[in-house]
Amino acid sequence: MKPQLSVVIPIYNEEAGIAKLFARLYPALDALGYSYEVIFVNDGSRDASAALLADQFRLRPDVTRVVLFNGNYGQHMAILAGFQATRGEITVTLDADLQNPPEEIGNLVNKMREGFDYVGSIRRERQDSAFRTYASRAMNRLRETLTHIQMTDQGNMLRAYGRNVIDLINQCSEVNTFVPALAYTFARHPTEITVEHEERSAGESKYSLYSLIRLNFDLITGFSLMPLQMFSIFGIGLSMLSAVLVLILLVRRFALGAEVEGVFTLFAIVFFMIGVILFGIGLVGEYVGRIYEQVRGRPRYVIQAVLQETHDHPVKVASVPQGH
Ligand code: UDP
Ligand code: MG
Repeated sequence: MKPQLSVVIPIYNEEAGIAKLFARLYPALDALGYSYEVIFVNDGSRDASAALLADQFRLRPDVTRVVLFNGNYGQHMAILAGFQATRGEITVTLDADLQNPPEEIGNLVNKMREGFDYVGSIRRERQDSAFRTYASRAMNRLRETLTHIQMTDQGNMLRAYGRNVIDLINQCSEVNTFVPALAYTFARHPTEITVEHEERSAGESKYSLYSLIRLNFDLITGFSLMPLQMFSIFGIGLSMLSAVLVLILLVRRFALGAEVEGVFTLFAIVFFMIGVILFGIGLVGEYVGRIYEQVRGRPRYVIQAVLQETHDHPVKVASVPQGH
């Protein structure tokens, strides 16, 4: 029996707020009147999250499934594992910290029923630190110029995807990816709606500055070659300029003799160029790193167990020792 709606929620150390999530999510879904399933993916939490998820599974085994990773593979890998488990026509993703109000799921589903196969969302008033909000807005603009992906608010995970999009994502084997952008590349009729955004209900953000920077690199290098191409164009321009400079200096050397003035200007130029070159090497490294992880071909995540109801045994714990 396939439900109409699948809800995928990644969980990483969310014990402080997870009870509040259950208390709002299930009534919101029951009120919609669609058949649904909720798929929680525990991304290697080191707190009591896994036990709390197992309790919730026991309470509502008919509509709850839990995928348990053996370690921390990141939010986007958790969502991809959730996608593999979905059976619904429409899949909705949201964060566990109640920053995405579960009551908005109905609005996403209504929009999907108008014939769209991807519904993104724009946060009406973002409830994050000023630094996060501004940095993310700047990254949003950079991504918009470098990739073909159109998203007003890339950071928000409250989104709905059609079966066609989910099936295509399930065929991908990218190691580091950004789910909303990947989905956008497969969507035929994407659209966006405005949703509410709340403060984190409990606990802290699971993203450090470092992991945010990593995520944004994945978003750009995973979806565009433009940075590399811009570098070669910049390189061509620069080598033409230096050729002219060499010619001028050569003529000057013979006409006026050796020169030593302007040595420090030269230093400034050289240091700037070294910076540019280091950045270029790092950029090439980003792409090489992606290729390296891809050709290594290791499982992207490892599923330790899945809690789900099966026909022969009402409650079964299946062990799946692989993660494609
Ligand atoms: N998350 C995850 N694995 C991680 C980091 C985060 O599954 O390594 C989950 C987390 O439990 C939450 C969602 O991803 O459900 C978003 O995380 P968070 O709210 O910390 O991010 P922020 O709101 O700061 O962007
Ligand atoms: Mg959050």
